[in-house]
Amino acid sequence: MTMARLVKALDLALARMPAISRGPDLVILGFHSVLDGMDDLRGQTLDPFQPLTLADLETTVSLLRARGFGFVNGRHVDRPETVRRAAWLTFDDGYANNLKAVPLLERLRVPFTVFVSTGYVESGEAYWWDVLHRESRRRNVPAGEAVRRREALKQLEPAAIRGELVAAFGEASLRPEGELDRPMTPAETVALSRHPLAEIGNHTHSHAILPVVAPAARREEITRCQSYLARLTGAPPISIAYPNGGFDPESVAACASAGLRNGVTCLPGRIAPWPVDDAQSRLTLARSVTLQHGRIERELNLSISPLRIASLLAERDRIRCLRPPAHRR
Ligand SMILES: [Zn+2]
Repeated sequence: MTMARLVKALDLALARMPAISRGPDLVILGFHSVLDGMDDLRGQTLDPFQPLTLADLETTVSLLRARGFGFVNGRHVDRPETVRRAAWLTFDDGYANNLKAVPLLERLRVPFTVFVSTGYVESGEAYWWDVLHRESRRRNVPAGEAVRRREALKQLEPAAIRGELVAAFGEASLRPEGELDRPMTPAETVALSRHPLAEIGNHTHSHAILPVVAPAARREEITRCQSYLARLTGAPPISIAYPNGGFDPESVAACASAGLRNGVTCLPGRIAPWPVDDAQSRLTLARSVTLQHGRIERELNLSISPLRIASLLAERDRIRCLRPPAHRR
């Protein structure tokens, strides 16, 4: 059994224990694509990283409601009328397929946040990981090798990743295949921002994994996304999701000076007691990104469990990421 599996098994056992009552708390869940059904993945257009169907989303909402959670997004996450146990549903990247979820979330009266990488909205290009997945499948690259390549590309700056894909598969490979893998258009982003339940958040301009890019580029990635969205929607975002969950002290400081109030990571955990009032903690909030088709209830029980080894490990990682660079390497 690997360490990660052992931690998960222990956490599942802990999640079954009666909850310890504490102050108000917040659970943030992160999703990517929204599918009509799992058949959508048959075309191999999307990297099947975190498949979530509309039915899965509805299940998630009803399970949370049954467990006493109300719903918020970054705009009203700490208003006084906010429920005692709050859940915040977030969708990363800015996929047009997220728009499928709007009628459902409307019917269920659930606010949500879509974190948009504005460079993709501007160019209309397919997300690089989907291009890699689809082109690798076409060339019968073994899945394990494609995953290794994806992880290696994550070590590069966004322009270099694009360059690698163009060199390997040609410029035309960057065109989306269709409705499933394309980013939202600027007009769709504007329309979504007008929806009373929707919040549009920052996901950097080029989907930069912030600790990977040079310090000046980190600030630029954050502020360019802020000003693009401000121009488009009339107001700059107040929430950011760090691409790949990557953050460091410089990025967090750049977010604070760009006017961002909430920052969500990919470090799991439930935030209690909520609200958190120091800026650095608010800009590095725990978020679970492990709910996916076939595992909704189990993963949700883990995400809302007050006792978790994974949360303790995540807290250790959060503090490590916030340590000044000199101590890091
Ligand atoms: Zn992303």
